[in-house]
Amino acid sequence: MRKKIVAGNWKMNTTLAEGQALASEVIHMVEDETNGEVHVVLIPPFTHLYPVHKLIGSLREKHIYLGAQDCSAHEKGAYTGEVSAAMLQSVGVDYVIVGHSERREYHAEGHDLLAKKAHRVLEHGMQLIFCCGEPLAIREAGTYLEYVETQLRESLFALDAEPWKRIVIAYEPVWAIGTGKTATPEQAQEVHAHIRRLIAGRYGDALAHEVSILYGGSCKPENAAELFAQADIDGGLIGGASLNARSFVDIVKARQ
Ligand code: PEP
Repeated sequence: MRKKIVAGNWKMNTTLAEGQALASEVIHMVEDETNGEVHVVLIPPFTHLYPVHKLIGSLREKHIYLGAQDCSAHEKGAYTGEVSAAMLQSVGVDYVIVGHSERREYHAEGHDLLAKKAHRVLEHGMQLIFCCGEPLAIREAGTYLEYVETQLRESLFALDAEPWKRIVIAYEPVWAIGTGKTATPEQAQEVHAHIRRLIAGRYGDALAHEVSILYGGSCKPENAAELFAQADIDGGLIGGASLNARSFVDIVKARQ
């Protein structure tokens, strides 16, 4: 059975005190209101990772995890401002996002760099959340399946089968991120099913069946249940709605 996952990407939001308050609220609500079946990942800014790790404490056993928003492609050295996979692992990070569209767009991160970052995350034993998804022009041109295929092939398909145990894919159509415009469940399912077919084509059906594929893009409590009802949507990567504990936990509950 593949994992159900709801991950909250806080992006560059919250001071430390605000982030600690948000994490505490989410943790308490998840403990009180959910059945522990969904893997919940809190993904604060780098500066808050260790304090949030302390708040999560032993609740990993109840499937509450810590995630980071990015990591360096380099192992260590003179790379001012970068944060390495080893550093993330040392402060208790379980999951790392690589390839978020905001990194691809604002930091010009391409396939080769993302392949290196993915490799770093995996070699340090953490779980990789690899984002893919097409911008509006590609959606309108009708070539979105090929676009997503290229993103996966170029950055991930050189890997062996073994690390795929620690890979989660997040399909995030760029036109739906932070826009309030959600993909319909049918639009999302079409791409999720395609992603699973591509993984099956490269690594076989059994492995593809085990890979969790998350949807991201203006997911909120009002639309989460119908998205999660689709056969190949295993959970969500949540941006804006993860900054409100009530909204985020309601999305977790929609995934149970
Ligand atoms: C995201 O950036 O990963 C995301 C899904 O954002 P939002 O939920 O705000 O669209």
